[in-house]
Order: sequence, then structure tokens, then C-alpha cells
Amino acid sequence: MSLIQLSERDHSPASMTSTRAGRSTLLAVVLTCLVPYCLLTATGCRGTQSTATGLPKRHTARAEEFVVHSDVKLPRKHPLLLDLVRLQEEVASQLQLPVARREVALYVFADELRYAQFLNQAYPDLPPRRAYFIGTSDELAVYTFWGDRIQEDLRHEATHGVLHASLKTVPLWLDEGLAEYFETPDKHRGFQPEYAARLAEQLRSGWQPRMERLEQLDEVGQMQRDDYQEAWAWVHFLLHHSADTRGVLIDYLKELRTNAEPGLLSEQLAAVLPTMNDRFVAHATTMALAVEPETRPVSANNERDQHALKSVVRE
Ligand SMILES: [Zn+2]
Repeated sequence: MSLIQLSERDHSPASMTSTRAGRSTLLAVVLTCLVPYCLLTATGCRGTQSTATGLPKRHTARAEEFVVHSDVKLPRKHPLLLDLVRLQEEVASQLQLPVARREVALYVFADELRYAQFLNQAYPDLPPRRAYFIGTSDELAVYTFWGDRIQEDLRHEATHGVLHASLKTVPLWLDEGLAEYFETPDKHRGFQPEYAARLAEQLRSGWQPRMERLEQLDEVGQMQRDDYQEAWAWVHFLLHHSADTRGVLIDYLKELRTNAEPGLLSEQLAAVLPTMNDRFVAHATTMALAVEPETRPVSANNERDQHALKSVVRE
């Protein structure tokens, strides 16, 4: 059984242990990927383990609770570092999170090959992904490489980091929905036009939202691209529909500071908004109106499909 097939809620031991990774037993793993590096693995990078497989340690910079270890030197006021500071403030402020209890280490490799080599050596069971968040008993860590979409990747993974540094736990679907929301630059206020367009199309075809179904997804292998899309849409709905829906989310996250089993968010939302599904559909329909005409739902083989493989693993 691969790492990503483990359950989030049953806290069963991870099949990949610290001995191979050189780390303590996994507590939480949030996996994300946008671009496979199959070509790299196919060329035998796993067998090319050497000093090149080590973590980036050459340069270190701090951005609030993030400690960035990188192969490439980042000036103190590099836009990526400033963006991480803004992200941390944005997530903590919007979600009213407490002061983070832990640091989050961000390891930024110089290129995809070095990143792939490291992951192949440290986490050989993980499928190829563009970035990972891996939480262990002694470190919350993000791994990624210097690529075209590094800002988006860092924002997504760093959001997981902020959540896990501040809360006792986060349900899988909500963790991913929030990361999808905050991965967009803050001026977009969490809006994902491709998701919005695709959602509208699915609604026209008769699809219906069901948060309760998402709440049943406690194994990463169960989460598909549509689930990430719906998780994002529910988060967007909760934060933007009304003060009441926002309050339900904030209260739920507050409970998660101390209670790992706070019940179902769907039940708490339904108690405040019995017509939640109807309101969600209206919200999604309105969102679609904001999508630029040229925006079309992504195709089935778009790299976004890989994004759907992002997962959470807990022990
Ligand atoms: Zn994620």
C-alpha cells in the first residue's frame, strides 16, 4: 500500500516509515502535484543518488513562520518571500487562526531533477508530483523546485503548512479546499476561473453538490479532480456567501484548534442554513458569470488533472 492510500482519520501507521525517510513517523502528509516528473524517473534518477540528492541547505531565509531552505539564494525582500509573508497573514487573518505553534520548512530545489532525485531517495513510494507538503512529528515541510509555477505551488503547500501549524487537525477535503482557495494571488480572493466554469457546466448537466460526500473521503486515493473542485467551491461559498456561512467556517476552525473530532461541518452549516445546497448552486452560478468568456473548462488531460491527486495522509 502506498503512502497516499492511508487513511486520514484512523491514524493508522504509515506504511512508509521514518527509517527510509530518515525522519520520525509521519503524522500528516499533504501531497500535491501539478506536473509529473515521470521522464526524470524513467531516466534512472533513483539510481543516481549522490550528494545531489541532499536537501537544499545552501541558503536559508525566514519569512514569518516559514523557513526557506534553497539552492538558489533569495534576497531578503525577494517577491516570493514577501508573498509568503502576505499569505501567512492572509490565511491567519481570514480564518482567524491562532498563532502558529510550529515552523514550516520550505525546501526549494534548484531544478526538477534534483527535487526528483531527493524524493526518490527519501520517499520512494510517493508518486511523482510537482510539490509536496509532508508533516512529521518533528517537522512540517514543503518540498518543491524552482519552476514556472513556484509561486502558486508554494502558496498551496504553505497554506497546508499554516493550517497544520495552527490547528490540531484539518479534515482532508477542507484542507485541500482551503489550499486551493489560497493558492491564488490574494487579489483574486480565492477565485479559480477554470473551476468556476467547469462547475457551472456540470450544474447544467444535473450535477448536485454534497458536502457530506466530501466528508466521507478520508483516504487520498478517493479524492479526484472533481472533489478538489467542489472542496474549493464550498470554501469559496463559506467565505463569501454571507456572514453566517463565514461564521460557521470560522467557528469550525476554532474548534479544530483543540478538538480533532469536532463533528461534521455539513451538519453545522445545515443548522444555520437549511437550504445550503440551493444557496451553493446559486453561488456557483453567480461565480460562473464572473468567468472571462475565453475561459473554458480544462480538458481531461490537462495538468490540472494531476492536481487532483493531491492527498492527505495521517497516522
Ligand atoms: Zn494540497
